[in-house]
Amino acid sequence: MEKVYDSFSILPWHHPQWQSLQTGHTEGRLPHALLINGPAGLGKSRFARCFAASLLCTGSGEADMPCGNCKSCLLLKAGNHPDLFLVTPEEPGKGIRIDAIREVTGREVLTAQYGGYKVIIIEPADALNMAASNSLLKTLEEPVSRTLMVLVSSIPGKLQATIRSRCQRVDIRVPERAQARDWLEAQGGAGDPDLLLDLASGAPLLALELADPELLQLRKTMLGEFVSVLEGKQNPVDIAARWHKQELKRVLIWISGWIIDILRLKSTSETSTLLNPDQRRSLQAIGNTLEFNGLYEVLDEVYEAIGNLGGQLNTQMLLEGLLLRLRACYSD
Ligand SMILES: [Zn+2]
Repeated sequence: MEKVYDSFSILPWHHPQWQSLQTGHTEGRLPHALLINGPAGLGKSRFARCFAASLLCTGSGEADMPCGNCKSCLLLKAGNHPDLFLVTPEEPGKGIRIDAIREVTGREVLTAQYGGYKVIIIEPADALNMAASNSLLKTLEEPVSRTLMVLVSSIPGKLQATIRSRCQRVDIRVPERAQARDWLEAQGGAGDPDLLLDLASGAPLLALELADPELLQLRKTMLGEFVSVLEGKQNPVDIAARWHKQELKRVLIWISGWIIDILRLKSTSETSTLLNPDQRRSLQAIGNTLEFNGLYEVLDEVYEAIGNLGGQLNTQMLLEGLLLRLRACYSD
């Protein structure tokens, strides 16, 4: 098993959900399956792994945290605890296949090696393909005592409804701005914390990723290219060829953020909710020349592409298509 533990700690905004699960555990009310969900960049994986560790820990940590020193914690750190299973796609962005589910649900009938809990983390659970989902559902319908399934997803809507209904939802929410800012400042990255959090829709871990001067510069350059495509000064095909070398998810999220801000700036003079407050001027200027309906249609397409991430065959064509349709919204 890959190394899955760097630290046994949760993030400040995890505390309410952590407390409620720990209380449930103490009172013997832990369900057989959890669905840990919430937007990307909130540390859902870390929460899931730390909770699994707290169930498996045989020492006495503070505030129900794993102790980090007992035999169980040491096995977790070494990445070979026999009662923790991690199910992920073979390659990032690909689906989780039925064999992977069969492997853990087959072993699951065995008693936990250390007589305690057995925990199976499935991540991202929205990557389960149809056959794998059906196989998992059978296990969820006939739960085994002291076996916990932990599904992690940023897009729980992609899971089968029957699977969702058999899991207790744990919603990890975007933290209050002050808490997020404090945490981000403590990490010591570059950039203005408020701007970074705006760009990350408030998700601190995404904001931290963005706290990289090169990435901030890349975003600025790409926004310039985006605007010049819309104005007809650069060829969408050339720009798509440049953009497709970047991480597609990030490119799509940036494009969606620019379109959302253009739409906001077109409909209201209130600008406190902008995702790109530092780029207000250029987004406002270009927005005046674009028509509403077309922008909404392209935004839908961007969301669809985000939902299909991992399945795209030709990212350059996808980006070209989006840029060409954006260009078609231009009317001066
Ligand atoms: Zn321990």
